[in-house]
Amino acid sequence: MADCIFCRIVAGELPADVVARTPRCLAFRDLDPKAPTHVLVVPVDHIDHAGELGPEHADMLAEVFDTARTVAEGDGVAASGYRLVFNVGDDAGNTVPHLHLHVLGGRPMAWPPG
Ligand code: AMP
Ligand code: ZN
Repeated sequence: MADCIFCRIVAGELPADVVARTPRCLAFRDLDPKAPTHVLVVPVDHIDHAGELGPEHADMLAEVFDTARTVAEGDGVAASGYRLVFNVGDDAGNTVPHLHLHVLGGRPMAWPPG
């Protein structure tokens, strides 16, 4: 999708602080981090949000979660703990319509989120 900012980051048309890359996904640091570690893991192929996922996305999702663990280990937060979040829709605060898994860590986080 030509007008999607995360598709443009995947294509290398927009800059990003990339921390991991696999055949099906890319991980880069969030521009406005909400925790010391705040990385977004996105699929290379555009999909709007987690509500669109189906069985055909199983391989891609396995790679997204595998990459999230690699990122957490690389940032040294795997042992202290981290949060994985998919926001879907307005009430969840979803702002970028390209699926992205937030990897948040490096500080204690409240539950439930505000
Ligand atoms: P969400 O609210 O779940 O849609 O999350 C979108 C996230 O993307 C927010 O945390 C933004 O700070 C982040 N974001 C938006 N534009 C960029 C960008 N160009 N590079 C990195 N992160 C971005
Ligand atoms: Zn996209």
